[in-house]
Amino acid sequence: LFPGKDYKIIIVGLDNAGKTTTLYKLHLGEVVTTHPTVGSNVEELVYKNIRFEAWDVGGQERLRTSWATYYRGTHAVIVVIDSTDRARISIMKDELFRLLGHEDLQQSVVLIFANKQDLKDAMTPAEITDALSLHSIKNHDWHIQACSALTGDGLVDGLEWISQRVT
Ligand code: GDP
Repeated sequence: LFPGKDYKIIIVGLDNAGKTTTLYKLHLGEVVTTHPTVGSNVEELVYKNIRFEAWDVGGQERLRTSWATYYRGTHAVIVVIDSTDRARISIMKDELFRLLGHEDLQQSVVLIFANKQDLKDAMTPAEITDALSLHSIKNHDWHIQACSALTGDGLVDGLEWISQRVT
């Protein structure tokens, strides 16, 4: 899927969005949880030449600015959305645009996983596109992919989209 050089993919989302489930469902290997700073929590997985690092955004974290130290060298950002979480999607929108403004992420492509599509009250990708104002993203190549981390549907399709853009 990702030939040649080393790749780094960061996975962000609100708590409960499905980041951990996504990592496990990809069956890529062992997820290692690290605690690099007090009160923060990064899940890390290395599969062949791809490094995945996942963490929550949008919390009360005072140390949130320290996440920037993880941005350098990132080829792709995956944003995992709980498609049933209408109440908090605007928080994720703010976090997304904050992220995209960071200088170390200017070369990164952005994949939005519209997760939990197996649930009846899930927002559609079109609704999420609107709620996140994805069409106002100007400087990043982006794509939204419907998926269910529970069943695995859509996950590989999302990674394929990334792999076609970062090689
Ligand atoms: P994280 O906080 O972003 O790492 O979220 P988790 O991966 O821990 O998932 C939070 C909860 O949502 C768990 O109970 C998961 O089983 C559930 N979950 C994650 N993805 C899906 C999905 O695609 N469909 C459904 N129905 N539940 C999901």
